[in-house]
Amino acid sequence: MHAYSAGAVVDPTRPYAEIWIGTHPSGPALLRHSHASLADFLVAGGEQPNLPYLLKILSVASPLSIQAHPDKQLAERLHSDNPHAYKDDNHKPEMSVALTDFEGMCNFRPVADILADLELRSELAALVGGKASLDALSNSSSSEDRRAAIHVVFSSLMSASKEAVASALDATVIAVKTASERSDADDLFLRLISYYPGDVGCFAAYLLNHIRISPGQAFFMAANEPHAYLKGQCVEIMACSDNVVRAGLTPKFKDVSTLVKMLTYKDDPPKIMSGEKVDGCSVVYKPPVEEFQLTKTVVPSGSTYEITAAKGPGMIMVIGGQGWIGVLSGERQKPESRLPLQPGSVYYVADSTRIYIEADHAMAADAPSPDLLFFRANINQD
Ligand SMILES: [Zn+2]
Repeated sequence: MHAYSAGAVVDPTRPYAEIWIGTHPSGPALLRHSHASLADFLVAGGEQPNLPYLLKILSVASPLSIQAHPDKQLAERLHSDNPHAYKDDNHKPEMSVALTDFEGMCNFRPVADILADLELRSELAALVGGKASLDALSNSSSSEDRRAAIHVVFSSLMSASKEAVASALDATVIAVKTASERSDADDLFLRLISYYPGDVGCFAAYLLNHIRISPGQAFFMAANEPHAYLKGQCVEIMACSDNVVRAGLTPKFKDVSTLVKMLTYKDDPPKIMSGEKVDGCSVVYKPPVEEFQLTKTVVPSGSTYEITAAKGPGMIMVIGGQGWIGVLSGERQKPESRLPLQPGSVYYVADSTRIYIEADHAMAADAPSPDLLFFRANINQD
C-alpha cells in the first residue's frame, strides 16, 4: 500500500485528496510485495472477495461537492436503470472521524434557523417560494409539516433557472457584504461563493447544518441526507459503494429529480460522536449500520498492546508513530514474527485474529508525537 494505488505509482511530493483502502473496483488495494489485489488475495484464502466497507483518508483543502447517497432500495433501482452513472447496487452510509479540526455540512438545519436566515436574505427567500414558503416554515408544528416545508424550499431552489440563481447569488453577496451583522451562514455563504461563483450549492450555507468537530470527534451521514466536506483531514469509512447524487458545489452532473425525491428533509441534528472508550488506548465509533465501525488506538511509545479477536475482516491503517505488528496464535503473548508499522502502513486482519502491537521508543524527526496512532476498521461488532 505504500507506493501503489490501483496500479499507479504514487508521487510522495504531490498532494493527494483521497486514499482508498478496500476492494472497490474504482480503487482496489494492492498487496505490497506481490501487487496482487486484496480481492484476489481474499478469494485465494477462501474468503469473500469484497470487504463490506471502504476506508479512506481525506485531506480537504477547499469545499467539496454537496451530495447524498441512496438507500439500498433506491441504489438497486438507480443501478439497474442507469448503471453508467450509478455503478453500485449498494447503499453508502458514511462516517468520518476528524484527524484535524474538521468542517462540514450535514442534514437540514432546524426549521427555525432556516426561517431566521431566510427572513434576512430576501433574495434567497424569493427564489425558494417567497411568502408561501416562509409561512409554511413558520407554521410547521409537526415533523411532517417541517419536512414538507423544507422539501418545498429545497426543490424550489434546485429547480430555479440558472439566471434566477445567478442574480439571487449576486444580490445576496451584496446584501451580506453591506449587512450590519453577519450570521455564521452568511460567512459560510461568502466562503462558498469564493470557491464556486454562480453555483446554486452556495445557498446550502443557509439550509444545511455547519458542523465543526475536533480531532477524535466523528459524524455519521445516513442514507438520503445531504452533506459536504469543507475543510480538514479525516478518516472516512463507508459501506462499499461509490454511488453519489450531487446537489451543488460541483461542475459535475446533478441528477436533480432523483436528488429532490430521495432526501428525507428531516431537520434532525447531525449525529456527532465522541466514541466509546474500549480500554486505556482505544475508542470505538459505532454508527447505526451493520457494515462498519472504526476504532482509534493510541499506543504510548515503548509499550505494547493487544488487539482482541474481532469477527469479520479487519483493516489496520497507521496515521502516526512507528512500531511493529504480529499475529498472536493460540495462548501466546508474543508473535512468532513481526512486520513494521509506519504512517501509511495498511494491514488486513483476518476474522477472529488476535494482534500484537509494539510502539517504538524512537521517534521520527518530523513526527508530532512519539506515540503510535492507528485506526482499525471492522464490521459492526454489536
Ligand atoms: Zn458522501
